[in-house]
Amino acid sequence: MSRTDASSIAVVVPVHNEAAVLGDFHARLAAVLDGLEETASVLYVNDGSTDASADVIAGLSRGDPRVGSLALSRNFGKEAAITAGLDHAPGEAVIILDADLQDPPELIPELVARWRSGFDVVYGQRTDRRADSWLKRTTAEPFYRLMQRTGRVRIPSQAGDYRLLSRRAVDAIVSLREHHRFMKGLYAWVGYPQAAVPYTRESRAGGESKWTYWRLWNLALEGITSFTAAPLKIASYLGLVTAGGVFVYGLVIIARTLLMGRDVPGYASIMVVVLFPGGIQLMALGAIGEYLGRTFNEVKRRPLYFVDTYDPGSQARGDAAPLPIINPPGSTVRGSRETGRIARGG
Ligand code: UDP
Ligand code: MG
Repeated sequence: MSRTDASSIAVVVPVHNEAAVLGDFHARLAAVLDGLEETASVLYVNDGSTDASADVIAGLSRGDPRVGSLALSRNFGKEAAITAGLDHAPGEAVIILDADLQDPPELIPELVARWRSGFDVVYGQRTDRRADSWLKRTTAEPFYRLMQRTGRVRIPSQAGDYRLLSRRAVDAIVSLREHHRFMKGLYAWVGYPQAAVPYTRESRAGGESKWTYWRLWNLALEGITSFTAAPLKIASYLGLVTAGGVFVYGLVIIARTLLMGRDVPGYASIMVVVLFPGGIQLMALGAIGEYLGRTFNEVKRRPLYFVDTYDPGSQARGDAAPLPIINPPGSTVRGSRETGRIARGG
């Protein structure tokens, strides 16, 4: 299947230690794909799994000609895994779907229908987040409201990575090679007509979520720093206000000393004047540090991931063909270097 096949759909599935659920997942996904008019393929991106996921994927690939597999050289994180999948996925439309069955594959026909009616980005919108914890539910909403207010792009709340992207939307997103990938922001940032399809998000079918609260907090920081420099502005305005306040207070002290004579006791006021601006300075430095650290990571311009092995699947290869040579030795594919065994050994 080539990228120009007008009616082909590729499903990209990032996989990190999902051996427990992959079998059930593929069974449900395959049933849905069987019912589609379009030619479909599935690309499992093994993001450095340490369990039996690789074997399970290999088994699925043997059993279903539509299944391709892409193994990264280590765990690069879900965002990089999705990007790797998007880089390699064929098809006129690409669907991103988690392996843990939290997002029902049965929604795919509806996503495809909306794409057919002219939308480039069709995202699943969670109507019911009972499956998520209380803290996650109550913090998500204010976060997206804040993002909408401070950043220029409108990131839909209640949407995750589950979505269909048209070929041009995929090409736009993979052209953004930033290292700090706040994917939800990137989907929105590229623009194009977007549509929402409501669905109910389930609990994980097995295994466990990799999203600890610490990682969620960092995701929120990522979102803010990737899309707005507002914290830096806030820091400078806070500085202005405190400097102004302290200046006025200074005038008051001078005037009082001149008019009423020397006034030695002043421990409390000194502590306030020293500690308050000091705290604000540290906070401002911290904000600058967050941006500086990210700038440091971006300027290194490292590739987003490395590929260990890539097999597009026997449907894409044409059955009799030998294992593919992905690209000639020494060449690079869109910022990712294929260092895999297949790529080297053919
Ligand atoms: N995932 C991945 N790399 C990682 C972490 C997760 O590819 O480093 C995959 C994981 O296998 C799953 C999807 O990303 O298919 C979503 O992960 P998870 O269920 O932990 O996130 P949540 O659904 O809780 O947001
Ligand atoms: Mg999940």
